[in-house]
Formats: sequence, structure tokens, C-alpha cells
Amino acid sequence: TEEMLRRSDKLSALGQMAAGIAHEIRNPLTSLKGFVQLMKAQKPDRPEYLDIMLTELDRINFIVSEFMKIAKPQPTDFSFKHVGTIAADIVSLMQSQAILHKTQITLNIKDELPPILCDENHLKQVLLNVLKNAIEAMPQGGEIVIELSLEPGGQVKISITDQGPGIPEKYLSKLGDPFFTTKESGTGLGLMVCYQIIEAHKGTMHITSKQGVGTTVHICLPA
Ligand code: ADP
Ligand code: MG
Repeated sequence: TEEMLRRSDKLSALGQMAAGIAHEIRNPLTSLKGFVQLMKAQKPDRPEYLDIMLTELDRINFIVSEFMKIAKPQPTDFSFKHVGTIAADIVSLMQSQAILHKTQITLNIKDELPPILCDENHLKQVLLNVLKNAIEAMPQGGEIVIELSLEPGGQVKISITDQGPGIPEKYLSKLGDPFFTTKESGTGLGLMVCYQIIEAHKGTMHITSKQGVGTTVHICLPA
């Protein structure tokens, strides 16, 4: 209704602003990188310091471009991609945030997986939202395991398991409802977006949870 529209309007305005800022960060970053490279060319005392700076600048650049892709809603763009590579990118993007929350993310690729027809950026957004929930479910830290496997029918299965408190039975049917959140500053939009994206891929997503043990998000994508 009106309130929902207003909130989603506000959300996309925020997303656009964030994408604009990310874009502005890239210009000074390029300039910084250029000057560090110049310094390196002038036989400095400690060239290894400059190498660290270059690596870190590349990392900022990677984070900013990933962020830009996600913040700005983009039209779907399907192509054949490897889910293993997509998952590895997202794990490396989330690693610093995970460490900050004393959380370990493990990527376990069980089978040789065929490339699948997908929208890479949208799939990344799904993994980000699910990982974010898993991290938030474990305020004391813990382990998150992402498992990729091949189903008998050739579908690629992604399961993401955390060691959080689990989801009370009465909430299970509400997951993915717009604005359903149990968090003080949650949006209740993360899972809704995930379901929409997986549906657009003609895949399935469901969540199983055991209280006191943890939660698993199961995603299946057609070959
Ligand atoms: P938000 O994270 O903003 O609350 P989401 O749509 O991502 O919105 O999640 C909706 C709700 O589902 C959360 O508020 C939480 O109650 C529950 N939830 C989602 N993932 C998990 C999880 N891994 N462990 C426990 N609860 C979860
Ligand atoms: Mg969330």
C-alpha cells in the first residue's frame, strides 16, 4: 500500500545515492594509485610498503565496484557463469565483515559444477543477503558453511548453514514477506529480494531451521 510504496521509493533513492557516492570514490582512488606507482618507480627506501598500499587500493576498488553493482538496481543480464566463482567472490567480499564478527565463512565445493545461466550480480545479491543474515544471527560469532553441490537432475545446489539460534516455527511462513523483520533496525526486505531473484532464475529457495542448532538456506538453480 501507500506506506510500502513510500518505503520502497526511499530505498531506491538511498541506493542511487550510495551508488553515486561509490562512483565519486573511484576518481580519487585512481589518482592515489597513480601516485603510489610513481613513487615506486623512484627507487624508494621501502618499496614493500608501497606494494601493500597498491594491494589495499585494489581492494577498496573491488569493494566499491561490487557495492555499486548491488546498490543500483540493474536490469537482468543473464549469461553462463560458474557459481563457484560467484560464491568465492562474495566470500572474499564478506570476509572482513565476518572477521569483525568473529565469524568464519567456509566455502565447500563438493562436485564439479557446470556453468549455469544466471544474472551474476543478482545472484551475488542473494548470497550477500543470506550471509548477512547468518552473520547477524551469530552475535557471538561462529561458523558459516556454504556448500555447492550437483543434484542428480543437473541442478546446482547452494546451501548456507549458520550456527545461530534458529528461527521460531511460527515465523517460518513469514520469511520473505515484505517488511517482516525481528531486528530492531532490520528492513525485512533481504529475503523478499532473494526469493524474487531466485524465482526469476526459475530456481527454488527454502529455509530450514532447528532451534538452538542453526539455520540453512537451500537454493536450487536449474542447469
Ligand atoms: P532483515 O535481515 O532486515 O530482518 P530479512 O528479510 O533478511 O530482513 O530477514 C527477515 C527475518 O528472518 C529476520 O529479521 C530474522 O528474524 C529471520 N532470519 C533470516 N535469516 C535468519 C538466520 N540465518 N537465522 C535466524 N533468523 C533469520
Ligand atoms: Mg537481512
